[in-house]
Order: sequence, then structure tokens, then C-alpha cells
Amino acid sequence: MDLFSFHEEAPGAIFWHHKGYVIYKTLVEFLRNKLRTAGYQEISTPVMVKSELFKKSGHWDFYKKDMFNFDVEDQSYSLKPMNCPGACLVYSTNTRSYQDLPLRYSDFGVLHRNELSGVLGGAFRVRQFTIDDAHHFVRPDQIQEEIKNVLLLVKEFYNDLGFKPEFFLSTKPQKAMGDPKLWELAEGGLKTALEEAKVTYGVKEKDGAFYGPKIDIHIKDSQERDWQLATIQLDFQIPEKMGLEYTDNQGKPQRPVIVHRAILGSVERFIGIMTEHFQGAFPYRLAPVQVSILPVSEKHNEKAQEVYEELMRQDVRVELNRDDKPLGAKIRDTTLQKVPFMVIIGDKEMQEPSLSVAVRNREGKDLGLMTVNEFIKTHLKSI
Ligand SMILES: [Zn+2]
Repeated sequence: MDLFSFHEEAPGAIFWHHKGYVIYKTLVEFLRNKLRTAGYQEISTPVMVKSELFKKSGHWDFYKKDMFNFDVEDQSYSLKPMNCPGACLVYSTNTRSYQDLPLRYSDFGVLHRNELSGVLGGAFRVRQFTIDDAHHFVRPDQIQEEIKNVLLLVKEFYNDLGFKPEFFLSTKPQKAMGDPKLWELAEGGLKTALEEAKVTYGVKEKDGAFYGPKIDIHIKDSQERDWQLATIQLDFQIPEKMGLEYTDNQGKPQRPVIVHRAILGSVERFIGIMTEHFQGAFPYRLAPVQVSILPVSEKHNEKAQEVYEELMRQDVRVELNRDDKPLGAKIRDTTLQKVPFMVIIGDKEMQEPSLSVAVRNREGKDLGLMTVNEFIKTHLKSI
């Protein structure tokens, strides 16, 4: 489908081709629009950072082997494997009061993890990727409401794409760090949030991270395979290690709690899963080419060009197929590309007084002869 490729010059990193990158950008933009209205501030933090930062945040002890570390001018640097420490630095540039929270930073930063070459696998397991990441800095009394809103956002997003998400609460593990009371409060908050968001959920006993409980989000693809995609994770440790504070209504310094959350998880992996789930027949909204124009022969090219320009003006992702092949072959090629609509222009369509086309959908259904305006109004705008 000409979406992306891999090259041995960069193992585990995707080379996006135009059509694949259209899906990537459309997906991210769709999400960005939702985040804008949900009160997020988008930030962007450096990819190459002194390793010191990860020592301070506590990631070094656990992730050192999974990170790319190297020296620059005798200083130890790393490629960031996650965005959290960067978001904490942005938080710490200002004094924060209890009224400033919750503060929600989203970050589509490029991440690197040093996966062994033997475990790399297509778009599913890569070394360079982007997570639709966000960090919410909240007061302990805001945890429940904040998680509920994230759950509602997750539900809405997946429903829009035609997936049914499943939720799992992972509880306190054997080797948990931090105050047991805070754990109790956090687990109770997550449970109530799940109930308030009206989602049914399973429990993964003792499967939380050592620094806090979490909610995992799974989907099943069209072949009934189970994928864990996103997580909503509470964290009491990083705020401590990074020395983050806000002042409460008595003017006293307090520690915020961090909610790490992703909705789709790795964008690369999500696109890999979607490609298999839809068998390449992406929903109209994400299809790299939404309409393909097929002139029957060379003498219909001029009219086809007019239709092409009109659809472009209407912001439709359109392709004009001028291949010197019989119509049947062109229809077959377009069907294989899973383009949602094809419009055909031949003698009959040329005789119509206004710009007209014969429309077929990718399921092979003939939708009949209509003007371009009718086509846009009835078939494209309604999607
Ligand atoms: Zn994080």
C-alpha cells in the first residue's frame, strides 16, 4: 500500500512514505483537536538530554540498558526514552499554586528505546517512536475527577475510530514504593473514576507499577487478537524525586501527583494494528486517498482534471488515475488500494449538463450517476 518501509541503514525506525504519513498526521491532528478542547497545553522537549536528568528522575536505575547513552564533550547524554522528566522541568519553571492545578501537558516527542535487533518487528516493535503522551500535574483530591475525564476521552476517541476499548485496573504490586495510605487513596480514586465514567473493567491483581496503580486499555482487532495500547498511570515517585511542589491554600508547599497517560500509545504501533484490523481499508477519515478518479479513456482526461480540481478545493484527498489501461484494470487496481470511493468519467458522464460522475464504493457497490456537488454532499460530507 506504499505506506512505509524499513531499511537496514536504520533498524527499528520507520521511513514514512507519503500515504502512510498522511495517516500518521491525520490521526495525530484528530487527537490534537480533541486535546485542545479538553484543556491541554502542548509542549515539546529535547530528544537529546544529559543522562543526569534520568538519574534524578529515577529512570536510570530501571531503564539504563534500554536507553541510547553516549558521550558528548566528555559529558554523558541520552536519547530520551520517555517524556516525563522533560515535562517535570517545564513544570518547575514557575511557582505553582493549588489553583493552577490540574496542569495538563501533552507531548508528541520522538522517543528512542534500545530494543535488541532480534526483537524488532515491523511497526509493532521499533526503536524510534512517538507516544501521544501527556502528564497531568494534579492535587491528590483531583485524582478521581481527572482520571474520569481521561477515561471519557479514551472512550470517545476509540468509538470514533470504531474500536471498543476494554479497561483493566492494575493494583498494588508486591514491591510497591511509597506511603500505603496514598496507595489506598489512589486505588479507591481509580475505581470510583471507572464507575463514574460508566466503564466496565477487569482487575489485574498486583500488576501496578512500583510507583503507582494504573488502568490499562486493550482492544481486540478484527482477528480477535488482544492488544494493550494505552495506560493511565498514577505516579507519586517522580514528583518526589524531581522536587516538584505547589503551594496549598495555607501557603504551604505540597507535592503534586502525576498522571501519565497515553490514548493510542505508540502512534507507529497503533497504525500497524489499524492496518491489520481494517485489512488496509481505513475509515474514510484516515484513508490516505479518499477518492480515485478514473477516466475511461484519454479523451475523458480533461473532464477528469476538472473533477479532480473541484474535489481538491473541497479538501478531499483525491488521486487522478491517468494510466493507459482498460477501465476494468483500473477499477481492480483501485480496489486493491482500498480507496473508499472511485468516480468514473466516460461518454455518458460527459454528456451531462453539469459536472457529473459515476460513483462506486470500495465494496463494489454502484452508487449511480450524480453531479460532483451531489457526490460531495451525500457521500463525503456525511462521513
Ligand atoms: Zn510519563
